[in-house]
Amino acid sequence: MDSILNTIGGRQIAPHSEKWLPNIEPATGQPYGKLPESDVTDVDAAVQAASAARDAWAELGGQERGAHLHALADAVEARSEELARLESIDNGKPIALARTIDIPRAVQNLRFFADAAHTDRSEILRTGEQAINTVIRQPVGIAGVISPWNLPLYLLTWKIAPALAAGNPVVAKPSELTPATAARLGEISIECGLPPGVLNIVHGSGGIAGEAIVAHPDVSAISFTGGTETGARISATAAPHFKKVSLELGGKNPNIIFDDADLDAALAGSIRSSFANQGQICLCGSRVLVHASRYEAFVDSLVDQASKLRIGDPLDDKTQQGALVSAAHRDKIMASVEHARDEGGEVLCGGGVPDDLPDRCQDGFYYRPTVIAGLPMDAATNQQEIFGPVVTVSMFEDDDEVIEMANATRYGLSASIWTRDAVRARRVAECIEAGTVWVNCWLLRDLRVPFGGVKHSGVGREGGEEAMRFFTEPKTICEVP
Ligand code: NAD
Repeated sequence: MDSILNTIGGRQIAPHSEKWLPNIEPATGQPYGKLPESDVTDVDAAVQAASAARDAWAELGGQERGAHLHALADAVEARSEELARLESIDNGKPIALARTIDIPRAVQNLRFFADAAHTDRSEILRTGEQAINTVIRQPVGIAGVISPWNLPLYLLTWKIAPALAAGNPVVAKPSELTPATAARLGEISIECGLPPGVLNIVHGSGGIAGEAIVAHPDVSAISFTGGTETGARISATAAPHFKKVSLELGGKNPNIIFDDADLDAALAGSIRSSFANQGQICLCGSRVLVHASRYEAFVDSLVDQASKLRIGDPLDDKTQQGALVSAAHRDKIMASVEHARDEGGEVLCGGGVPDDLPDRCQDGFYYRPTVIAGLPMDAATNQQEIFGPVVTVSMFEDDDEVIEMANATRYGLSASIWTRDAVRARRVAECIEAGTVWVNCWLLRDLRVPFGGVKHSGVGREGGEEAMRFFTEPKTICEVP
């Protein structure tokens, strides 16, 4: 069995308690390794290592920090195939997806913020003849980073890259369900000479290791991506310490197909946005809203294509749908679909586990792509995040009705709109309560734009300058000449 270790102070270290958690391969349901069950003592060691590294890293300057991040990006890129395989085994995602999305994006994250490290963000504001205000931005302090399992290396690097670029040492806790690529990143960071203590990666459960990071008095900022309930708990723990907190949380995103849409493009986009990564992307469009005049034809095609997605061994190049991340998550998805049936929903396809899996995958955590019709917007199935390969389809008559339907949940992360009418697209986009609205596309990302959610989908924004602002504190120096 492979043991994963913590990265603390530039060394690979076992948990002080010698307690471990099993690492399960979702495709087979079998344990294939173990990871540290770190606790407050391990987290404290990581924070001490970060404290020791803090001043030197901040004083190094943006150019040198950028050079370190580029070196890390190059080293990750050189190991792309190894990391894609690790991600696929650890998470259950198709290796083709890990090769084309997860690992390339992790490299891009590191490169993007390596370049961002060079920019001097100081501002000068003159108060008439009386004074000169210089606003400088200084590192916020030790950054606590907590990330989920769905895009493990992609989302971890999305946080640690800006934190490091801005001059902060990091204490990161990846999801206990998918620790492998984070652990490898820790090793790679040592191999490519990142100063000890600058990047510390502590493995373990959220309730113990995660809480210890959030509660640690020397950690100044928490950047979290995960579920809305966890985000609420983190907010409550961090508030008495007056920490800066950025929360990227759940979604129940609408995917709107207007009568004038390019239906082929909308269908291809909807298959991706519904089922990519087995629907386990916070940005997936889990509520498909179709204009009444196109409803029947569009839903028929959606069901047809969803049923044809190739489910199989994530390590098979041709697999389009891999395994769900855990047995508990598969069971939660099953229960959600049963609840949808109880609510009166009609399961048009899927709604169960596949029966034609390869031998190796017989005990894996699979679920068929599922489309459910006939539920009102206030049904639990349309309100609660399922975070799996399950979408509902609903019909609308006009723009105002679909805007109301789109906004009728507590979430507000993203939306997609498919229409050829640019005026309508802009009007509807402006009315939708969400951090991102895609028109005639989905998951088209520019790393410079603000990324995040409104309502229960989050607080704050990541990406580009927003991330650099989060990981720095402005200081005004007011000088009278
Ligand atoms: P989760 O909230 O269960 O766990 C996320 C991370 O938080 C894990 O590392 C976990 O160990 C840790 N954690 C759990 N309890 C904690 C606590 N009390 N204190 C500190 N840390 C704790 O989420 P998940 O199941 O890993 O991920 C799925 C969720 O993430 C979905 O709701 C999804 O929508 C959301 N998500 C959001 C975005 C976004 O950008 N908005 C991106 C990806 C995933």
